[in-house]
Amino acid sequence: MNGLEGELHAGLARLDQRSLRRRRRERSTAAFPVIEFDGRRLVNFAANDYLGLAADRRVAAALAAAAARWGTGAGAAHLLSGHTAAHAALEEALADFLGREAALLFSTGYMANLGAIGALAGRDDTVVQDRLNHASLIDGAVLSRARLLRYAHADPGAAARRVDAAKGRTILATDGVFSMDGDVAPLVDLADIAERSGAILMVDDAHGFGVLGDGGRGSTERSGLAPDRIPVQVVTLGKALGVFGAAVAGSRDLIETLVQRARPWVYTTAMPPAVAAAAGEALALMRTEDWRRERVRAHVERFRAAAAAAGLELLASGTPIQPVVAGSAERALAAARALAKRGFYVPAIRPPTVPEGTARLRVTLSAAHEEGQIDALVGALAESLPHE
Ligand SMILES: *Cc1c(COP(=O)(O)O)cnc(C)c1O
Repeated sequence: MNGLEGELHAGLARLDQRSLRRRRRERSTAAFPVIEFDGRRLVNFAANDYLGLAADRRVAAALAAAAARWGTGAGAAHLLSGHTAAHAALEEALADFLGREAALLFSTGYMANLGAIGALAGRDDTVVQDRLNHASLIDGAVLSRARLLRYAHADPGAAARRVDAAKGRTILATDGVFSMDGDVAPLVDLADIAERSGAILMVDDAHGFGVLGDGGRGSTERSGLAPDRIPVQVVTLGKALGVFGAAVAGSRDLIETLVQRARPWVYTTAMPPAVAAAAGEALALMRTEDWRRERVRAHVERFRAAAAAAGLELLASGTPIQPVVAGSAERALAAARALAKRGFYVPAIRPPTVPEGTARLRVTLSAAHEEGQIDALVGALAESLPHE
């Protein structure tokens, strides 16, 4: 082996030793709820398909029909010839649903966060972030070259101190729902802090959109804040909507500014128009089929009650993200393997995705699950994670 190969090999071996090596598994069926994974049939508790729309026939039909009309690729970036009526219709539908002046589609939530932060903050500015924010918000701040200040998780007092220490234009950015813990950000407090100090509140609602709030508008709706108190709102289309992509929603001037300056939007091929049409169909279904949101909420209550009765250690989450704490990476991995033997796929989330000593099984619930599958999962969890 040459030098690089030897180094890479040794690096991977070290990860193996510490139970931190990540592996891909191959799924050979559609997303939900029973999947074939590495040749095994498992009940899937590892998807963000909260409403059970990722394998919905009507969404698939909308995708196929739009592909027949528009072809497969957008062919270019939005500012060249890639922007179609299908994109525009989805942007309008999202803005209308969220009660915002405008919305801008991005290919992924990751790119939306890089794009929005990079367009609004530069070298002389500050981005203040919750310590548990998603990697894409952190990376967006790093890429913007602004100063990055982090505060203790979901602690408005700590956020206020960071905002007060900030220089230049200040963005206060938070996940709406924290992706590895499932708890909701203190949005009302953060909005007050932002307004008092002149900071710009940015909420990435990847896991709240479609799920929280009576209408499914997300953590922002649930907070009761008027939409314009959250100047920069990010939603993703690959989780509750079961499709792919993301959008930033806000004022018309914000969106126009992103069109000028958001590099992960300007310098990339537009999402396929058929994907935009499919997301539009999923949005329409999500708006009319309230039972999906109600069903996943009932599943959350059912799971928590059963897990508490079984003595499992849960986090304070009221969302479909229901982590079960294991502690060490090794213990989490062993439990995940034991669960797979019992017919359940629940991933072990380990450092660096979560802090050292807090490795966990990340259970995500969906309207596509049956009650019996949830009850059986709790039984299997109790057997796979015995008291230490
Ligand atoms: C999943 C996620 C993203 C990234 O969205 P993609 O569309 O999957 O790139 C961004 N932020 C949060 C909080 C997420 O959970």
